[in-house]
Amino acid sequence: MVPKADVLVYNIGQAVLFPKKPLRRVSPETAGIKEGYAIAIRDGNVVEVGPSGIVRSKYECNVCINAEGRLVTPGLVDPHTHLVFAGSREDEFELKLMGYTYLEILKRGGGIYRTVRMTRNASIEELTNKAKKTLELMLSGGTTTVEVKSGYGLLPEHEIKMLEAAERASRELPIKVVRTLLAHVVPEEYLDKRSDYVKLFDSIIAEVSRRRAAKYIDVFCDKGAFSVDESLHMLRKGIEEGLRARMHADQLEYIGCSLLAEKVYLDSIDHLEKTPPENAKILAATGTVATFTPTSMVAMMEIERPKVINELRRLGVPIAVGSDYNPNNMTPLQQTAMDVSTYILGLTPLEALAAATVNAAWSIREEGGQLVPGSPGDLIVWDLENYRWIGYTWGYDKTLVVISKGRVWKNLIS
Ligand SMILES: [Zn+2]
Repeated sequence: MVPKADVLVYNIGQAVLFPKKPLRRVSPETAGIKEGYAIAIRDGNVVEVGPSGIVRSKYECNVCINAEGRLVTPGLVDPHTHLVFAGSREDEFELKLMGYTYLEILKRGGGIYRTVRMTRNASIEELTNKAKKTLELMLSGGTTTVEVKSGYGLLPEHEIKMLEAAERASRELPIKVVRTLLAHVVPEEYLDKRSDYVKLFDSIIAEVSRRRAAKYIDVFCDKGAFSVDESLHMLRKGIEEGLRARMHADQLEYIGCSLLAEKVYLDSIDHLEKTPPENAKILAATGTVATFTPTSMVAMMEIERPKVINELRRLGVPIAVGSDYNPNNMTPLQQTAMDVSTYILGLTPLEALAAATVNAAWSIREEGGQLVPGSPGDLIVWDLENYRWIGYTWGYDKTLVVISKGRVWKNLIS
């Protein structure tokens, strides 16, 4: 009997398969680059990867897509987003252009506290609908798995509401959402009683864990957010309650946050813009992924290449990138983060692709970001000849076909 494939993509010019994760050193040899291949997908997963003629003749395909010699890669994995929020802050964009800093806008009652007020006032349906539209946009740009943080509710019921909206938004879509409880900032009503808020957050962690509403605990450890000691307390509490841990660290100023990787097991440290190069060895020793968010560096108008990056590379720390989509950085496409990571972080096109796929998946300890039998049927046919065009071309959507969880979400070829 002829085996069946739900989807078969054949006549692939160049396929970048990424055999194993994480990829500590990215090169054409380690990336698993193949020419003239085909990929068969059934029941949501990759079932076979091999020379096009052989795979094409072996399977009867329901949907058969001729890639016509183009580049095929795994679907993109976005390991850092603030997908769920209400409202917008386009007026603050102009304040930023006038020279106001993030902290100054925060002090004027803008910034995150404004989004918190709007998010608290929004119903779960409003949050869900807005998030769903963004997820559809992300999918169309090739994102097939996405991490989503809470952190604009700050109080128990609103944090739970955000996490619930993230789950509801993804229900009918072929995109995997991985939820994170984020201790973002101390709410305005607790600014003069910070320790009370840290205690309250303990109860939020416990409730989120009880409801299984998140995989991760995340803390924004930085000046103007949480201190090193507060962050350590919350991360430990999250782990105690059965969550995995990750952290926003060293984004605005260096106050020693990335040193916490020595005290608590972190799957990823995100941002690292102000991390001293000597801290790279801590990540190398602990197996922590370094996740950068290059488009949010653009949005913050601070585009200085992080000093830690070359040391991370030298020590073989897996590097990931995320979109950091949020009301202060309205860039929902992981594709854009991948492309601009070449310019802003100095990643090679192949490093950028690994950072947005295989290493991004490892950053959130999820399947995906690779094309091998058994991996999720997440695949992109690009309107590109080969991976060298990543970053070289940017600023437009270069995906022609997006397949996620075995479902053809977009197909501009047929
Ligand atoms: Zn963030």
